[in-house]
Amino acid sequence: MGCYLGIDFGTSGARAVVIDESAQIQTQVRYPWLWADSLVSSWQKALLTLLGQIPEELRRDMKAIAINGTSSTVLLCDAIGNPVDTPLLYNDARGSLVLEELKNIAPANHTVISATSSLAKLLWMMQLPSFGEARYFLHQADWLSFLLHGRLGISDYHNALKLGYDVEKLKYPEWLESLQIPIQLPKVVPPGTPIGELRPEISQQFLLPQDCLVRAGTTDSIAAFLASGAKSPGEAVTSLGSTLVLKLLSHTRVEDARYGIYSHRLGDLWLTGGASNTGGAVLQEFFTDAELENLSHEIDPTKASELDYYPLLRVGDRFPINDPNLSPRLTPRPDNPVEFLHGLLESIARIETQGYELLQKLGADSLDQVYTAGGGAKNPTWTAIRQRHLKVSVVSSVNTEAAYGTALLAMKGVDIS
Ligand code: ADP
Repeated sequence: MGCYLGIDFGTSGARAVVIDESAQIQTQVRYPWLWADSLVSSWQKALLTLLGQIPEELRRDMKAIAINGTSSTVLLCDAIGNPVDTPLLYNDARGSLVLEELKNIAPANHTVISATSSLAKLLWMMQLPSFGEARYFLHQADWLSFLLHGRLGISDYHNALKLGYDVEKLKYPEWLESLQIPIQLPKVVPPGTPIGELRPEISQQFLLPQDCLVRAGTTDSIAAFLASGAKSPGEAVTSLGSTLVLKLLSHTRVEDARYGIYSHRLGDLWLTGGASNTGGAVLQEFFTDAELENLSHEIDPTKASELDYYPLLRVGDRFPINDPNLSPRLTPRPDNPVEFLHGLLESIARIETQGYELLQKLGADSLDQVYTAGGGAKNPTWTAIRQRHLKVSVVSSVNTEAAYGTALLAMKGVDIS
């Protein structure tokens, strides 16, 4: 039996999933973040601890490993791969200090023009004293993979999108080349590309086969998409977590910075998507999880609620309505909590449908089926309401663990069909 290992470095901890050749999970292990450690040593400790926790008989059969990190978590390393400063995490907005400079460098409305993009972080890091010692700029997944295969300076085109890499032409664009950044930007390969075999010391320490391959990784959200089971153009994944995130697989690339819409490349296909500020966080303002479950049972999902809300925690949304001044709309509020919840679920379903309509209007393939991930996926009443609005079948994701998606990537690369 051959085994494949996916490791997810997420926001709350690191997880590893081992699958067999028929994509069945053989084991999964977890490592919560311990904030006492420095970032770099906690990542390293997590990686080695997870490897050690996998049962030995599975380790001995390991054929390939891939790692996903959080998108735009980046660091600078010296010539032998030692970090020269603290990494910047995905949500670190210090790049806002170079945003004006970035606007003069990148084409209008480019994905990199954001305080948290990898390129904004790199430009900010160039002002640090430690930059003088740096030789490589890497994403979290690139550096952790390096610890396993020992080759520096390699990334994948999911992680590199927010660095400005042109995922259509598969090269760094001229406007980026012309900056002549004095350290090495990663060489970018398709996610899942075999990079190399394990370093001998890792293979010996963990009794992993010496010819076990380390493949190029991906980002956490793409890994979660890969886990969902969606594989054909027209299939989509809605994440009903704190916020509402839509991803629709398509033959065509869709970009529209006004709505924060961009596309990741997935082999010959494109993963188009957008994110709204509405979602479960608003439900949580009014109901506990137990109330959400109990009150939902009392809703008749075949009947449409007349209440037309735009549930937001604070002013402003970008997708599917681009209006920084959009006010939350949560009135009229009926006395009956069942009716109020019905109105909220119905309204979020309406916004989800509007989101998919916008992606299709901008050129994405027609919606055929929607997989669902996140806390809202376990609510059958909501699923039925959403199905009435979306007019396609709505099912739960096969698996929602990013580590499972990354294990699939370790098995078969970015070919998801
Ligand atoms: P995230 O990882 O984005 O914080 P999760 O995927 O863990 O979020 O989902 C949490 C959200 O799911 C909460 O905001 C909560 O309101 C929502 N949720 C939990 N249970 C239910 C339910 N039965 N019906 C609808 N939403 C729910």
